[in-house]
Amino acid sequence: MEHLITLVIATRNKGKTSEIRDLLKGFPINIKNLDDFGPIPEVEEDGNTFDENAYKKASFAARILGLPALSDDSGLLVEALGGAPGVHSARYAGENATDKQRRDKLLQAMEEKTDRRAAFECVISIAVPTGAALTYEARCEGLIAKEPAGSNGFGYDPVFYYPPLKKTFAELTIQEKSHVSHRGKALRELRDEFDKVLVWIRQNMPVQLKFKHNEE
Ligand code: IMP
Repeated sequence: MEHLITLVIATRNKGKTSEIRDLLKGFPINIKNLDDFGPIPEVEEDGNTFDENAYKKASFAARILGLPALSDDSGLLVEALGGAPGVHSARYAGENATDKQRRDKLLQAMEEKTDRRAAFECVISIAVPTGAALTYEARCEGLIAKEPAGSNGFGYDPVFYYPPLKKTFAELTIQEKSHVSHRGKALRELRDEFDKVLVWIRQNMPVQLKFKHNEE
């Protein structure tokens, strides 16, 4: 009998965890997140790319817990702002600012700009305790709206206009959004290859850890 693999989602965010749990249901894995373990030091997301930050979070959790770990990092890149807010998307208006303050700052920075092109990007990293990792990336292109519209979603959704559907992300249902969004696309790419990912995890777990935590 194969032992079940435990996969740790390197987040304390319940929404993210249940989204990933839902997407990977049916696969022979036992999904946990950081709240299932004792106190673990926070990782500083100080990388220059989404890739770096996603890998940092996944590999740190994997090393500390001795289990394979999955993490994602994402953000908004605006052409006329040289790619800002980019990796600083969550802190664009300071550490304790609200989503609305970040959107207001963005709209202000874009006031005079005619080039409104922007893209959300998402990188998913899956790491094992040795540091080896797999990466999935996806992007969704759109435009920065002149003013916010819609009340669904989170973050920059009300100001991200998606031309193919002629709506902002905040005017879409969750299902409509995840069908086209950066995160939805990256997660589906991962799901489509997940059988291969499981083989890779088994092959790359250090021998002494292979069975340690992996029983239900
Ligand atoms: P993180 O990936 O959890 O570190 O979050 C990155 C930041 O990018 C979030 O706080 C949001 O501000 C922004 N962001 C990432 N994905 C989305 C999205 O789907 N909609 C709106 N904002 C997003």
